[in-house]
Amino acid sequence: MPKTEQSSNESAIHQTPNPKGILLGANVSIAKTGLMAAVEETIQYDANTYMIYTRSNRGGKARPIEDFNRDQALELMKQKGIFDPVVHLSYLVNLASPKEETWEYGVSVLTEEIQRVEYLGFKYIVMHPGSHVGEGEPYAIRRIAEALNSILTGNEDVFICLETMAGDGSKVGNSLEQIAEIISLVKHEDKLAVCIDTCHNYSFGYDIVNDFDGFLKSFDDTIGLNRLKVAHINDSKTPFNSHKDRHANIGEGSIGQEALYRIVHHEALRNIPQILETPGGKYRSEIDVLLDRTPASE
Ligand code: FE
Ligand code: FE
Ligand code: ZN
Repeated sequence: MPKTEQSSNESAIHQTPNPKGILLGANVSIAKTGLMAAVEETIQYDANTYMIYTRSNRGGKARPIEDFNRDQALELMKQKGIFDPVVHLSYLVNLASPKEETWEYGVSVLTEEIQRVEYLGFKYIVMHPGSHVGEGEPYAIRRIAEALNSILTGNEDVFICLETMAGDGSKVGNSLEQIAEIISLVKHEDKLAVCIDTCHNYSFGYDIVNDFDGFLKSFDDTIGLNRLKVAHINDSKTPFNSHKDRHANIGEGSIGQEALYRIVHHEALRNIPQILETPGGKYRSEIDVLLDRTPASE
């Protein structure tokens, strides 16, 4: 895939001159015009970062990445001060699957996604580590590492960010220890990073409401804070330690607006893309609240 313009795009995406250093955006759509749609939606929210899925979570062939209007979108991002966009890998990928066919599908999709994201010039691919579907956690952890070892060459220009999960179903990568273990089994571990998700972490039993600093300390002790590259900011419809993954709008869940505000403004998250994945298209007002902005009068 052509990578000729990547170095010139680099500066557009990887400087973060916003004075507060807070990068906050949302999971946006690429319908019709690809990245242009994503950037235009981000501008509507007056946000300075964003996340997309480059392919449908319902499966099927991926849209050609050359049709995403990359150059035009990167130009607009530069003008508007939008930085460090994130790509989320398809939900259909399960690198922990005991089924050969499913595992191989995951390997091929992630391999392709790395190339697609490198073409866009973005740095972060967020992925759910996987589900063991009955085989148990130690099996799943080895299986995920095996997949990553077969995919990564060490020459990638992107970070694969393992997302911390809520402990629902048979998911792995719920605890910081599990994430650390996966990383420790991967040869090119320098290509691995981590995405936290406030809904998942709270649901799994990390008390980020009363002790976000304690959570970060554990993160630093087990994984190393240098690996924290992306954060998902969601409230949770279910209580602390419920092991469920149900996102709520900011201030309408068990975590609450105050705690989420503190997290978004925490020093440790400066210059890290923070992405809302909340229901129902309330992104503009949620971002306004989290950034102390007077709501747009529309
Ligand atoms: Fe996710
Ligand atoms: Fe998430
Ligand atoms: Zn979730």
